[in-house]
Amino acid sequence: MTFKAIRADKTDAGQDVRFVEMDEAELMPGDVTIRVTHSTVNYKDGLALSGKSPIVRKFPMVLGIDLAGVVLQSAHGEFKPGDEVLLNGFGLSETHFGGYAERARVNGDWLLKVPQGLTRAEAMAIGTAGYTAMLSVMAIERQGGSPSAGPALVTGAAGGVGSVAIALLARAGWRVIASTGRMAEAEYLKGLGASEIVDRAELLKPGRPLGPERWAAAIDSVGSVTLANALAQTRYGGVVAACGLAGGADLPTTVLPFILRGVQLVGIDSVNCPMPRRREAWAKLAKELDLLALRRMTVVEPFDRAFEVGERIRAGHVRGRVVLEIG
Ligand code: NDP
Repeated sequence: MTFKAIRADKTDAGQDVRFVEMDEAELMPGDVTIRVTHSTVNYKDGLALSGKSPIVRKFPMVLGIDLAGVVLQSAHGEFKPGDEVLLNGFGLSETHFGGYAERARVNGDWLLKVPQGLTRAEAMAIGTAGYTAMLSVMAIERQGGSPSAGPALVTGAAGGVGSVAIALLARAGWRVIASTGRMAEAEYLKGLGASEIVDRAELLKPGRPLGPERWAAAIDSVGSVTLANALAQTRYGGVVAACGLAGGADLPTTVLPFILRGVQLVGIDSVNCPMPRRREAWAKLAKELDLLALRRMTVVEPFDRAFEVGERIRAGHVRGRVVLEIG
């Protein structure tokens, strides 16, 4: 049978990314075949959809770094036909066909069952962005961060990682300071649990190596000067989780926050995160994420609109999370 997919092909002019009809025989090797029902558009998907970024490392490639669906066939001990599963990262859309297709065949070791309490659509509303937000919260907790130490800063607040991070931190008892370039979204951010909104312009200006101690923790999806300022204004012993580069991949900082205030900088990777930590993150998401907040930050779009959503996320115009209905 044939199915619809968004595929990137290599051409003399660069990349050709478009909807195509594919055959199951074209799927890559794997021990579990899935009927994909939902995916999402993360910032990284937006870049891949543009056909101009180096996300894809092997051609042809089916895009989509996330998928949720139902198992059709399985030679893997943990999964049987009918199981509802989800997958984030592990090279999807880079080196292995991803979630922008009605069928996927993958290594069963990469899969998780959709946790009880979540639907497949909710799992994709969370997606890599939300799971990365949870990995960041877990990293802050592991390093000893707690709401009793002071507020938490979330940068890129109205984006996907930022929106979920606000909801998770607020639910865990943190007073959340949200930094956004979209001040018109202040009410939206407060609705997710933010107590204070700061204009991101404030954090985009190069600052002093050490500033006033404003927060005890931070989740930063922006990088560059924003991350440098987040570090410079973190309280003594505080924890900063760096998970993104929406504002740039550089980090123009000094060692002063580390050697004078004992600030801890923790890196977050979602793609190759080991399975035990993934399981823990998804179990916690199912238990601790306020589903009403998730609904408030999510819009559902048909598969056909993937390119349009990709353009909007690249332009910084997507608020919160997008679910793509695939199958
Ligand atoms: P979104 O586009 O949904 O959110 C990014 C947000 O960052 C925007 O909404 C905007 O927030 C802010 N922003 C955008 N451009 C700039 C800029 N030039 N300067 C300052 N702020 C800016 O993306 P996601 O939430 O999906 O991803 C966020 C980042 O995290 C990306 O860089 C992504 O690659 C990274 N990421 C990393 C992962 C990992 O494994 N480490 C996994 C998932 C994501 P606002 O309008 O509120 O200012």
